[in-house]
Amino acid sequence: MTTKAQSYLHHFRNIGIAAHIDAGKTTTTERILYYTGRTHNIGEVHDGAATMDWMEQERERGITITAAATTAKWKRSGTDQEYVVNIIDTPGHVDFTIEVERSMRVLDGAVAVFDSSQGVEPQSETVWRQADRYGVPRIAFSNKMDKTGASFELVLNDIKERLGAVAAPIQYPMGAENEFKGIIDVVRQRAHFYTNDLGTDIEETEVPAEYADKVAEIRAQLIEAAAEVDEDLMMKYLEGEEPSVEELVAAIRKGTIEKKIFPVLCGSALKNKGVQLLLDAVIDYLPSPLEVPAIKGKIEDSEDTQEFPADPEGKLAALAFKIMADPYVGRLTFVRIYSGTLQSGSYVYNATKEKRERVGRLLKMHANSREEVTELKAGELGAVIGLKDAGTGNTLIGDGDDKVLLESIDVPEPVIKL
Ligand code: GDP
Repeated sequence: MTTKAQSYLHHFRNIGIAAHIDAGKTTTTERILYYTGRTHNIGEVHDGAATMDWMEQERERGITITAAATTAKWKRSGTDQEYVVNIIDTPGHVDFTIEVERSMRVLDGAVAVFDSSQGVEPQSETVWRQADRYGVPRIAFSNKMDKTGASFELVLNDIKERLGAVAAPIQYPMGAENEFKGIIDVVRQRAHFYTNDLGTDIEETEVPAEYADKVAEIRAQLIEAAAEVDEDLMMKYLEGEEPSVEELVAAIRKGTIEKKIFPVLCGSALKNKGVQLLLDAVIDYLPSPLEVPAIKGKIEDSEDTQEFPADPEGKLAALAFKIMADPYVGRLTFVRIYSGTLQSGSYVYNATKEKRERVGRLLKMHANSREEVTELKAGELGAVIGLKDAGTGNTLIGDGDDKVLLESIDVPEPVIKL
């Protein structure tokens, strides 16, 4: 049961984008920021283009385009519902560093980007295992479908064989390499053809006859996998009844959140193909903060733990996960609020350092702007100016609240084969 105060959280997605170096994490992130930036200015294509120029300029100057957490907005295609997508920058380290652990803790889901011409590379395997270890639900993006040697089947097979995961192709590419023309949404049985270079003009049609058999075959497998995680769907399946699109989406979503199913998408970030569908899939299949287990805190001098469900009216529980130096405002402490509401100008208790600290200004970072806000609520991420002592991994709670430390996630030791 969610309360009215929690209802905005249904429209939040806190995600990371993880990839082997060179698979296209930066390009995919740029394109996501481009398309999400564009939704602010519907109909004003020039603003969108300006965003792209801005990103290219930043890139030339070698500046990282994303903050530790960037807040974007996306209107689910075909609906009027706007979603907040917070993109958390996950470090591309190969080993189990503490920094990877911290970033994995603050995200609720991830997009694993693969290079379609390379399949699952050793480092993407490592990133995948890290996400397994931290229980992060994920979807996979088979990128670079336009590249010589690109094969969606290669990525699907590698996910099954090298990662031992149930790869669920929710899309199918129309052509590959130079002939990569578009993407079929297998769940909805619709084809998307890209008709301009920016990927903004999409012609949606029925599945072309030449792909009908293939799409029917993988859709049947998809329904079978979805039925495994959803009893109602299983009943229908056994009775030979076709599930509705909504039922199928709901079952795949359930399987994804339970980490039993890994939806696989395809596209070419470079050629602007598939990125909007990827954003739609983030909305459709990755969990909101209400659908992940509540974070726990260890109560001081006790064996007991306290749970902090995502609720803006609950007690404050926040984690500082990245400190950055900013040339204009100084020290920026990036935080994720799990529970409660952090107010600018208030006092908080840093339970890790055992210090009372004053919160200065609060910022939400967007792709090309910063927004000053007066509060950050449960489920939100942003940056605090003014905290002097907080370091990465520190727990922030309400001033005067019982001391708790947010637990590191209880995970088994990694079993990794490199
Ligand atoms: P990262 O290291 O994962 O962040 O990868 P980048 O996004 O920097 O991409 C690495 C290289 O692959 C760059 O030269 C990109 O232009 C290229 N690249 C990224 N996406 C695509 C794609 O969809 N198709 C092709 N052909 N190249 C791509």
